[in-house]
Amino acid sequence: MAARCSIAFMIMASCLSVVVSGGIPGNLFALSVASKLRVDRNSTAGASSDFGRIVAAAPEAVLHPATPADIAELVRFSASSPSPFPVAPRGQGHSARGQSLAPGGVVVDMRALASRRGRVNVSAGAAPYVDAGGEQLWADVLRATLEHGLAPRVWTDYLRITM
Ligand SMILES: Cc1cc2nc3c(=O)[nH]c(=O)nc-3n(C[C@H](O)[C@H](O)[C@H](O)COP(=O)(O)OP(=O)(O)OC[C@H]3O[C@@H](n4cnc5c(N)ncnc54)[C@H](O)[C@@H]3O)c2cc1C
Repeated sequence: MAARCSIAFMIMASCLSVVVSGGIPGNLFALSVASKLRVDRNSTAGASSDFGRIVAAAPEAVLHPATPADIAELVRFSASSPSPFPVAPRGQGHSARGQSLAPGGVVVDMRALASRRGRVNVSAGAAPYVDAGGEQLWADVLRATLEHGLAPRVWTDYLRITM
């Protein structure tokens, strides 16, 4: 039994890669987006892995943007820092190998933008198109287009992920 447990542990340890990195400058919390940053363990732990469960990497903070300008402020701040830190957008976190993680940096929870109205606009003219925010689920885009008797031609086979 003990031997079986240690073999299982060794397999898990070799599969799970844990990424650790630097950190964010303290003056990030002096920016106007500071009130939308969460640093509590629940928030950072929730953004430390993805659906693949292969890579684990904790961010130092999670941003819940109210507008795209909040994201721009964060990215500008990181880019102009002496040591830029990772910033990663996260939709539903269904990626397989840590693509939505920001080791030691800031994860932007794009779903926060979904509460804003008017982020899916369907143009049903002669050349129909949809203009939608990157936080929108394919399921919600489909719902909006169906109201016009239209549907996108190409799909993922699971619709509860972001565009
Ligand atoms: C077990 C498994 C099965 C899967 N099966 C399928 C399948 O059958 N069909 C299929 O199509 N896909 C499949 N996928 C892949 C998955 O659908 C994609 O990874 C998809 O991008 C996940 O969407 P998300 O909203 O969860 O994105 P996230 O995982 O949150 O992010 C994915 C990537 O996009 C970036 N990103 C997120 N939001 C934005 C934004 N607004 N602007 C710019 N970049 C952004 C992230 O930083 C990250 O790099 C599967 C994945 C897994 C783990």
